Amino acid sequence: MAVLSVRKYGDPLLRRRAEAIGAITPEVRTLAGDMIDTMYDEVGIGLAAPQVGASLRLIVVADAQTRDTRVLVNPAITAGGGEATAEEGCLSLPGVFAPVTRPAWVVVEARDLDDGKLVLDARGLLARVLQHEMDHLDGVLFIDRLDPVTRDRIKRKIKKDGLPDDVGHRAFAL
Ligand code: ZN
Repeated sequence: MAVLSVRKYGDPLLRRRAEAIGAITPEVRTLAGDMIDTMYDEVGIGLAAPQVGASLRLIVVADAQTRDTRVLVNPAITAGGGEATAEEGCLSLPGVFAPVTRPAWVVVEARDLDDGKLVLDARGLLARVLQHEMDHLDGVLFIDRLDPVTRDRIKRKIKKDGLPDDVGHRAFAL
């Protein structure tokens, strides 16, 4: 198990569409374990493989309520609805926080590390984390989902000031 370095905004890998995982190899298991270590080290509640430099459809999420950690291989949204707005942050965009509107609930199907089928019926924070992480697999960042004015303001500020190396409050970073 190892803590990996997190790719930051501007890294082209964060903009690539990640590849589906075929067989669950020892390498995939190791990567998932390292992602969990990295997520907790960064005090995050979710992490996608492209954020640690692996262009694969693999995410890990922490369920704050149950304290469970879930590993999802090739996750896909099969249903969803409603609308909810809440502040998001991203480990790849340290120090940037903004309200994002997304479906309030989703059903996500995936494989687990034992090649079993996983179905998550998620609402609230977990639904948001899952959608944020799955966006990473398609090269989408949460700032892409903001209104253009807010997005441009954030992009200009990053261009001018850069991203901070370390940020004090990262209670909700994905
Ligand atoms: Zn993120």
